[in-house]
Amino acid sequence: MSNNRSAIRLAYLYPKHLNFYADRGNITVFKRRLEWRGLTFELVEVGLGESFPEDCDLYYIGGGQDRDQALVSEHLVSQAANLRRAVDSGAVVLAIGGGFQLLGHSYLTVQGTKLVGAGLFDVETTGTATRLCGDVAIEVCLDGHTETVVGYENHAGRTSLGPLCKPFGSVQFGFGNNAEDGFEGATWGRCVGTNLHGPLLPKNPWLADTLLNWALKHANAKVELAPLDDNLAVLARAAVLRNTV
Ligand code: GLN
Repeated sequence: MSNNRSAIRLAYLYPKHLNFYADRGNITVFKRRLEWRGLTFELVEVGLGESFPEDCDLYYIGGGQDRDQALVSEHLVSQAANLRRAVDSGAVVLAIGGGFQLLGHSYLTVQGTKLVGAGLFDVETTGTATRLCGDVAIEVCLDGHTETVVGYENHAGRTSLGPLCKPFGSVQFGFGNNAEDGFEGATWGRCVGTNLHGPLLPKNPWLADTLLNWALKHANAKVELAPLDDNLAVLARAAVLRNTV
């Protein structure tokens, strides 16, 4: 549900369980990039057993180990309809790693446990005994604009896309969803799922602002995001790109 407030309300799903590789840093980037533009930000942390709010503009879920994914998966499925209604109203989702896997149809762990997912993304993930780890560079096109997005991946799961979603990026360096099809992550409307940690957003300010612009639209906030001095991010990106493309 959207209204005329200017603040973005962000729901952080399972902050205690899904916060692999300091994924929480993505929240800090959202907050600071809004505050630097004089905009307000409200964080709603949603833990195990709590109802997902339906009136947030942005929903964030981070990565996690299989055992943490197993702890939250049943509750997540019980809240999937709330999330789906928020998304249908135009809210934005950013899902990283294990959180991305759990927003797909299912994650079959290497031990053979099937974790049913929320089914937001038309993807399925199967665990394997070998992990895909290392720096990643992908080419991403959103809102007609193409950029290289960099990050770090570490996942045992191999994710495959169904016809209802598009890949988030095409792999230039690294493994991506499954080390085979050259795809990384998935998008569906304003929902983005990716394997990229780092955390993702400090090195990819363009992506952070794209997601914030979508969230501001949902909040009916008629504001332009002014350019920021992203020099440190530019240097950090250059360091990763030297090791990749
Ligand atoms: N446990 C999952 C896997 O290994 C997700 C890990 C992650 O969040 N990077 O595939």
